[in-house]
Amino acid sequence: MQIRNVGLVSHQGAGKTSLAESMLFETGTTDRLGSVDNGSTVSDFDPVEVERKMSISLSLLPQRWKETKLNIIDTPGYVDFIGEVKSSLRVIEGAVVVVCAASGVEVGTERVWADVEEAGLPRMVFVNKMDRDNADFYSTLETIQSTLSTRCLPLLLPVGSQADFAGVVDLVEMKAYLGPDMTEAAIPGDLQERCEAAREQLIEAAVEVDDDLISKYLDGGEITNDELRGAIRRSTIAGQLMPVLVGSALRRVGIRQLLDAICSWLPSPDEGGALLAQDATTGEPVTLKPDPGSPFSALVFKTTADPYVGKISCFRVYSGAVSSNSQVWNSSKKSLERFGQLFTLLGKTQQSVSELGAGDIGAVARLESTATGDTVCTRDGPVVLDGIEFPRPNFGLSIQPNTKADLDKMSTVLPRVCEEDPSIQVRREPDTNEFIVSGMGDSHLDILKERMRRKFGVEVRLAAPKIPYKETVAVKTKAEHKHKKQSGGHGQYGHVIMEVEPLPRAGGFEFGEKIFGGAIPRNYIPSVEKGVVEAKQEGVVAGYPVIDIRVTLVDGSFHAVDSSDIAFKIAASQALKKGLTQGQPLLLEPIMDVTITVPDSYTGDITSDLSTKRGRVLGMVPEGGSNVIQAQVPYAEVLGYAIDLRSITQGRGTFTMEFSHYEEVPAHVTQKIVNEGKKEDKE
Ligand code: GDP
Repeated sequence: MQIRNVGLVSHQGAGKTSLAESMLFETGTTDRLGSVDNGSTVSDFDPVEVERKMSISLSLLPQRWKETKLNIIDTPGYVDFIGEVKSSLRVIEGAVVVVCAASGVEVGTERVWADVEEAGLPRMVFVNKMDRDNADFYSTLETIQSTLSTRCLPLLLPVGSQADFAGVVDLVEMKAYLGPDMTEAAIPGDLQERCEAAREQLIEAAVEVDDDLISKYLDGGEITNDELRGAIRRSTIAGQLMPVLVGSALRRVGIRQLLDAICSWLPSPDEGGALLAQDATTGEPVTLKPDPGSPFSALVFKTTADPYVGKISCFRVYSGAVSSNSQVWNSSKKSLERFGQLFTLLGKTQQSVSELGAGDIGAVARLESTATGDTVCTRDGPVVLDGIEFPRPNFGLSIQPNTKADLDKMSTVLPRVCEEDPSIQVRREPDTNEFIVSGMGDSHLDILKERMRRKFGVEVRLAAPKIPYKETVAVKTKAEHKHKKQSGGHGQYGHVIMEVEPLPRAGGFEFGEKIFGGAIPRNYIPSVEKGVVEAKQEGVVAGYPVIDIRVTLVDGSFHAVDSSDIAFKIAASQALKKGLTQGQPLLLEPIMDVTITVPDSYTGDITSDLSTKRGRVLGMVPEGGSNVIQAQVPYAEVLGYAIDLRSITQGRGTFTMEFSHYEEVPAHVTQKIVNEGKKEDKE
């Protein structure tokens, strides 16, 4: 049987999930039409998705249309869930870009268009919501052509618009399909001319794929419908044509045409371009054959954690076939895995299958070591497929359990939810002792929190991460402390004199001694060092660790009976505090290297925003229509930069950020940090 693996992508809310629902109904996969608005779709089954009326993860929606199996993947439109889009684009051969007929091309449309382009996928555009107020097919088409590609040409034209939207005209067949049942009809008279012109334009573009057809066309020969179909198919697969369809997911208009178009114009798995992999042993490139007789290889592109069923791994078979209850080799991890019962997923519904062959998509539960992006294959002649490139998360918050019980559960649940979404990362920040969870934006992390609660019963709080400030001194000083206690029997005596001096940035900490003539016996010196090391954990400005100093023990005295390790340790820590206080103590803050890529027109807004964030622009490099801005900005100012950048550029900008170095905090900012620290202490 023929297979088409197709992703639905769009700006949030263009109607992908509704469209998927109509397709499932039209193909007879479901006998009830679900709706996003009352939370009854097959695709958005997660309680969090139902509640928010938005897709959070990709859903697999296999269905059969005529002689073809369609593996439709509904993807989330909201930018925080781009990781799911990347996974989907990795395993499909074609994409349907859904555009709302009233809103036209939106920022998210441009973004997914670029992603589809980068993935090199053939695509079609579906102009949805033609029944809506303000729907305007022709102005939408114009922006599609001007902002996405001039290769986008209609294969269907709408009959009527908004409340009067009645059906579509097929420009290949030159027939209209009208009414709730899409009954075949003649093209309405007032549309005839327009349809002829659009068909002509389509022919002109499609024949370009074939020299013989071009000559025939230019010589005034009649292009038959069969020739036109062949040319549309080849030029769509070659990326030279992007067919534009039109309809309404809610009114189920144009759905059959969309299903037909997917089968007719988009490539099958063996037409999707060469399948490249690497030989797992030699690293040499190998080309895989997408036929069931060749050795098995598949890519795991999605992992879900289900508290009841356990882990579910979705995979796409590239070559050969795999059956239930078999052993496979995970060539990414170099480990054996047992595949139990195989199944396909329709939303959340599992349907057992005995075998999955090349080009198909399915799932298996409870794999041991396999993660998203891994290749599974036969053990003889193993191969490794390219993994999935996930965006690097750059919005971090500290995650804290609500209760002691949540703390225990958090440590087991966090790795599982991270396994579900590789665009979320967790790390422990040693300086502040916090767990930092990073994602693409605030909604991303908010939903992570909600998932942890709903799925695993773990309650957590998210908060801005603490800044790992440090302290140091500006000038060299000499400090002295004598720790002396006479209380009845054994007294305490330790006396040290030390120099405390600044080191250059990133100088760390050094301890030395220049004791002459046994002023302090050698066996007490390690205690002096210990006292200094302990005391430098809390600086005198705001209690942050002290760095970039050298401490040299230069003199002191002892008492034959009363001196002890502990007495010297206390004396040393007190002396250090004095030294720090006298040495013009400073607060240091982490400075980040930030690289921002934005369309040229936003450069001014970005640089002026950076200057309000105490940032320094180091350079700018034009790259295509974009500008790559290099800057250094204090970490404290860019904790929420993922969100700021999104709002400045309407989501058109991207950035990466890395720790660079520590720098002195300006005096007026220091005062604020000190005051805030005091406030926190009181709380
Ligand atoms: P997605 O975010 O792209 O998956 O979009 P949804 O399918 O969740 O739809 C977003 C909203 O648009 C929902 O309120 C739908 O009811 C509505 N919608 C979807 N398709 C149509 C359509 O063809 N016509 C109208 N009028 N509304 C639609």
